[in-house]
Order: sequence, then structure tokens, then C-alpha cells
Amino acid sequence: MAVEELLEFGEAEFLLGNCPDCKRRVLTYPADASDGGGSRCVHCDSSVTDELREANGDDLPDAGYGLLELQGCGNPDCGGGRCSREQA
Ligand SMILES: [Zn+2]
Repeated sequence: MAVEELLEFGEAEFLLGNCPDCKRRVLTYPADASDGGGSRCVHCDSSVTDELREANGDDLPDAGYGLLELQGCGNPDCGGGRCSREQA
């Protein structure tokens, strides 16, 4: 079984932080060490260092990220090809 692919979303951990360019709390991703490391905004790739905190999937809707079946495609960011409704 490909258990890794079925990782429960609510248990995954993410980092949220204040993006200086988006001027709001955003989801971040870890940058490669070769690219300077740290956390980057998923929207604009800016380095995010302000108010970083861990969050899990259950926290994301509170931060404005309605992902997967929680809120479907009501998110305006869904136009970017990250929408995961393929199995709808
Ligand atoms: Zn940003």
C-alpha cells in the first residue's frame, strides 16, 4: 500500500507566517538550503520570517486556506492549478 500518498491531511504540518509582500498570513514552504533555506510564501516566493508558526491541516481553513473537500473550490487562489478536485 502506498501509505505515504494517503497521509491524513489533518495531521500534516505546515508553517504559517506573515508575508511582507502579500501583507497577510500565508502558507509557507521550506526553501532549499542551496537557495538560502528558510520559509517562502507559496503565493509570491518571498522569504517569510515574521510570526512563523506551525499549523496542521485542520488549522488551514482558519487561516483562509480551504483545501481539499473542506471548502472545495471557493478559494480564489484555486485558479493557479493547485486545486485538488480531480476525483470529484
Ligand atoms: Zn507572499
